[in-house]
Amino acid sequence: MKKIAFFDTKPYDRESFTRAELAKNFDIRFFEQRLNEDSVQLSEACDAVCIFVNDLANKAVIDALKEKGIELLALRCAGFNNVDLKHACNRIHVVRVPGYSPYSVAEHAVALIMSLNRNTHRAFYRTRDGNFSINGLMGFDLHGKCAGVIGTGKIGQCLIRILKGYGMRVLAYDPYPNRAFAEEADFVYTDLEQLFRESDLISLHCPLTEETRYIINEKAIEMMKPGVMLINTGRGPLVDTSALIKGLKSGKVGAAGLDVYENEAGYFFEDFSNTVIQDDVLTRLLHFPNVLVTAHQAFFTREAMKNIADTTLKNIDDYFNGLPLPNEICPDCAADGNKQGKKRCW
Ligand code: NAD
Repeated sequence: MKKIAFFDTKPYDRESFTRAELAKNFDIRFFEQRLNEDSVQLSEACDAVCIFVNDLANKAVIDALKEKGIELLALRCAGFNNVDLKHACNRIHVVRVPGYSPYSVAEHAVALIMSLNRNTHRAFYRTRDGNFSINGLMGFDLHGKCAGVIGTGKIGQCLIRILKGYGMRVLAYDPYPNRAFAEEADFVYTDLEQLFRESDLISLHCPLTEETRYIINEKAIEMMKPGVMLINTGRGPLVDTSALIKGLKSGKVGAAGLDVYENEAGYFFEDFSNTVIQDDVLTRLLHFPNVLVTAHQAFFTREAMKNIADTTLKNIDDYFNGLPLPNEICPDCAADGNKQGKKRCW
């Protein structure tokens, strides 16, 4: 039976993977440690490795896996910015779960938008404390306002449908526009500058790449409408946090909903409630009344967790059965070997 080393696992991961249909085919070793150059030793005698968003698969880790004879790295997430894909090509197969539930993330973005807009996160504490004043809790009608959506893939499209349901006008930016969807859902593609200048709220749904790193920076914020709401459920480094803090302090940014943060790796998914948080930028963010931080939980629904477990184990099963790998990612194969008629990276 093939042994699979699962890194960075929490009780909910163990539960959903143990319950999955294909789990019976594998000897799964759950580790709490994140994968990095030190912890890679835990995969000794394993046949494949499974990782999540804050594990690290850099050159050294990939080489160490290869040395152990491991040629499959299965990501149980959609994003893959934590893997050195160029180095992985022809050394180790990298598979992922491209679309486990775009609804989970889009709906979480809406949860952030609605909380921040109507201040339900503050009302919750006020009423529990017997404070029934509504001073300072005024929101705005989403109906008739303009939403800017950056990235119109699976999640961006779900969000656009929801926002259109609120009666919003939607502007979108994507280097690969989906014109048919724009016509069907009744929104307009534009350039980034127009999106920044006209949107009342901006939500990020593009992958983290060298091109999108700090796509929200000081210059971008300068172009935005006063009081703009920023939502990031994509990846932390899409936003230059110092520029965001400056924008929040000046009032240019009216609210920010952040499910991801550029230095989240040291904190998110863990309990620091008994310690003094050393990250001053994170601490500053947590103290704005108009900032809502959630710890990378946008994906976290029952449906998404089931799909993640099923697809991850299917990817691993296909690999060991010598089948094509539709969810393999490899830059040399334009991130999808199958589209070019190749069944696998090599
Ligand atoms: P997707 O691949 O379906 O869509 C991404 C879209 O971004 C594509 O249409 C692509 O053309 C577009 N894009 C590429 N470069 C761009 C650029 N420079 N500017 C604007 N758009 C660009 O991916 P998806 O499933 O919609 O997921 C989007 C991102 O959401 C993922 O890459 C991941 O980082 C993040 N994510 C977060 C969570 C969470 O729990 N917070 C969960 C899943 C995914």
